[in-house]
Amino acid sequence: MKKFKTESQRVLDLMINSIYTHKEIFIRELLSNCSDAIDKLYYKSLTGGISGLNREDFAIDITLDKENRILKIADNGIGMTAEELENNLGVIARSGSLNFKKENEPNEDVNIIGQFGVGFYSAFMVAKKVEVLSKAYGSEEANLWVSEGTAGYEIEKAEKDGHGTVVTVYLKDDTEEEKYGKYVEEYEIRELVKKYSDYIRYPIRMEVTRYRTEDGKEEEYKETETLNSMVPLWKKNKKEVTKEEYDRFYKDTFYDSEEPLLTIHASAEGAVEYKALLFIPSHPQYNYYTKNYEKGLRLYTNGVLITDLCKDLLPDYFSFVKGLVDSELTLNISRETVQYDRQLKLIAQNIEKKIKSELTNLLENDREKYEKFFTAFGLQLKYGIYDNWGANKDKLQDLVLFRSLKKDKFVTLGEYVAEMPENQKYIYYSTGASVESIKALPQCEKVTEEGFDVLCMTDSIDEFAIRFMFNYKEKEFRSVASEDIGIDDSVEESAEDKEVTDFLKEALDGKVGKVKLSSRLKTHPVCLTSEGELTIEMEKVINSMPNAPKDKIKAEKVLEINASHPVFETVKKLYAEDKDRLKMLAEVLYDQALLIEGVAVENPTRLADLVCKLIG
Ligand code: ADP
Repeated sequence: MKKFKTESQRVLDLMINSIYTHKEIFIRELLSNCSDAIDKLYYKSLTGGISGLNREDFAIDITLDKENRILKIADNGIGMTAEELENNLGVIARSGSLNFKKENEPNEDVNIIGQFGVGFYSAFMVAKKVEVLSKAYGSEEANLWVSEGTAGYEIEKAEKDGHGTVVTVYLKDDTEEEKYGKYVEEYEIRELVKKYSDYIRYPIRMEVTRYRTEDGKEEEYKETETLNSMVPLWKKNKKEVTKEEYDRFYKDTFYDSEEPLLTIHASAEGAVEYKALLFIPSHPQYNYYTKNYEKGLRLYTNGVLITDLCKDLLPDYFSFVKGLVDSELTLNISRETVQYDRQLKLIAQNIEKKIKSELTNLLENDREKYEKFFTAFGLQLKYGIYDNWGANKDKLQDLVLFRSLKKDKFVTLGEYVAEMPENQKYIYYSTGASVESIKALPQCEKVTEEGFDVLCMTDSIDEFAIRFMFNYKEKEFRSVASEDIGIDDSVEESAEDKEVTDFLKEALDGKVGKVKLSSRLKTHPVCLTSEGELTIEMEKVINSMPNAPKDKIKAEKVLEINASHPVFETVKKLYAEDKDRLKMLAEVLYDQALLIEGVAVENPTRLADLVCKLIG
């Protein structure tokens, strides 16, 4: 007896002891494996020069043995060699579910099964023993894999007619809660196949019992019935498919326990022909914002699965879209041909346009839903604007939302600009951890007092994204923390004032490029602004990036002082009477301004000491 690999062992335990309520999905998993195995062989026959295989001959057969509580599922697909049996069934293929379990609630098995494909092992939710008899296409030898669960598995040589695989499930004994016996009932299996596997493109057949009356006598006879319609959902007419059917297809295919936010069922004719079924999830997948996430759409060509994740079909900024494309690509030569590439590109362009127009439509007609979408995936759109030096900004700029400081709700750039008063020169924005903290920023005071709205940039990427936009509808973006905000806030500095501000600049010893009096501030004594391209927020973000430059990047900082604040009186007094003390105060004011900006002060201990000295 061979032992399962440790991680397979754990998934297996999970299955055997599962309290998951939808155990019936094991049928879907096994049938989908059969379909994949047939796809693989059929694909080979189309491209690899195998002859003598006809599409019509492929089938999946279910046999029920009610008396012995045995369910058999057989396919005539590509089959497995002994080595493949060992590698594929001894090790869990989708260890994604296991990683997820490790990171999250360790006792929560219910969700995991719902969220991920659990594949072959799901059979152990209902089986006390599973046998897999398989013969690889082109091989003379068949093998039998047997396992009764946790203890391990055995593989031995066996006999089998023809290539393919037969999975035999020996059902568990019934318990109070669970009647496993239902999985050998004809009507139950018929329902389950219809529910989960109707669109599998090969016939799923089952021998069923029928009755007829002959010469007044009722008699029983057997007949083979094809249980699935074989028409994939995406090939059906939109009008014939219900929301429930789309939702279930999405949940089953992409392992999401929640319904999709948006379903897009499209078909195109003309230069390229295809049908696409696309979904926008209602929330980011657990690994969406990590480098482990892989974007892509499932690609079928003339009904045959070519690849599970075709990356080229989705741009990065729409990587959250799930779904599939069934195309009429000419597959007859080779997948690598230029012709094939060209067609794929055309489809990708069409799909991108379609996604964009559906999102625009949602934005215009169902704002609440759009905001839900944007909360989940807006970051990706903003990243898309930034990526490639703004190459895609025109496509994306009308899809992004920012929170308006005035309205405390999401607005589009278009909405912001439409409401700009005539005397407002710039699109104002402010960075900050939250709308609340931005509201409290001294730099915002002047702008809001003028009646101008401010866009709140609360994600690190925001400011970089708008930098790559440069402007929107010819209006330039301007940070409320830049020295020039296009509103006159200068204060006539007398010769004495100038002496004082120069002294402060000296005292700060290169930390700021300028100290000036301004009327920008109402209630606060000081704030920091920046001159030039680099803002203080960008300095903060760039320096905290993993690949930050060794010599820290520095924004050209300006310390602005509120000329009508009592602190300035103190400053002037100290300048006349106690310059050493003013030096200390200068440092404290500077550090204070940094803290308000959300930037760490260089030396917190020194700041604490200085404050104490000034108090004492
Ligand atoms: P997945 O289908 O996600 O890869 P499974 O655990 O369901 O994960 O299956 C593991 C592997 O075993 C499959 O990738 C496939 O290579 C192989 N396999 C399972 N069932 C069959 C089958 N009926 N015919 C051929 N190969 C199969």
